[in-house]
Amino acid sequence: MRKELTTRHLLFFGPPGAGKGTQATMLSARVGVPHISTGEILRSAAAQGTPLGKRAKEIIDAGHLVPDDIMVELVRDVLRKPEARGGFILDGFPRTLPQAEALTALLAELHVNSFAVVVLDVDEEELVRRLSNRLVCERDGRVYSVGRSGVNRGSPCPDCGGQLVQRDDDREETVRRRLKVYLQTTAPVLAYYEQLGVLVHVDGRGTAETVHWEITQKLSEEVEG
Ligand code: AMP
Repeated sequence: MRKELTTRHLLFFGPPGAGKGTQATMLSARVGVPHISTGEILRSAAAQGTPLGKRAKEIIDAGHLVPDDIMVELVRDVLRKPEARGGFILDGFPRTLPQAEALTALLAELHVNSFAVVVLDVDEEELVRRLSNRLVCERDGRVYSVGRSGVNRGSPCPDCGGQLVQRDDDREETVRRRLKVYLQTTAPVLAYYEQLGVLVHVDGRGTAETVHWEITQKLSEEVEG
């Protein structure tokens, strides 16, 4: 007997700072399916100064959500790429009920009939603490936390020497707004997936490694061979 993932089509769900990006990156490396972060796609469009990026940057920096029609188009394009044919980990989408409904239609079009939604549960005070301590390398995009891995404000990236900066939307007042938006707009999304019976709740408070372990345990089943 060996263990295998029950599905290679996954959505990662949880408030900002719950560790979706970290966990999606770890699982993606382990199972070899692409990690698709809508926040990353928007930030890279903003850095390149594309029309979408320019529009998105203002919205993101204010802690609001990018309109549903833009997000649905963006995800439709990404999921239709050949790289996503064998599975994917979607991180940061859907965030609203219309996005969730559009995704259901899109998955049906792509003949994806089984998927799981991993929910990372972390309480609000811990989220604010994590987000205000989060630093991102401007060069390689790696994420660090102040006081961990020898990193402090102003120190260089331990990996590539690049500059570590705080994301504009990680300032405390924006963080509080993002959490409020999460609670208001994403609660109906959770209820939607609850009804579909696809939710997998994971305690997101541990270390990256313990949370990763719990995710793989909960998503795996024993198979012959
Ligand atoms: P994230 O990196 O997932 O925290 O996303 C950063 C920001 O990008 C969010 O606060 C939103 O402004 C925007 N964003 C990312 N994904 C979505 C989405 N599915 N719907 C609307 N806005 C999004």
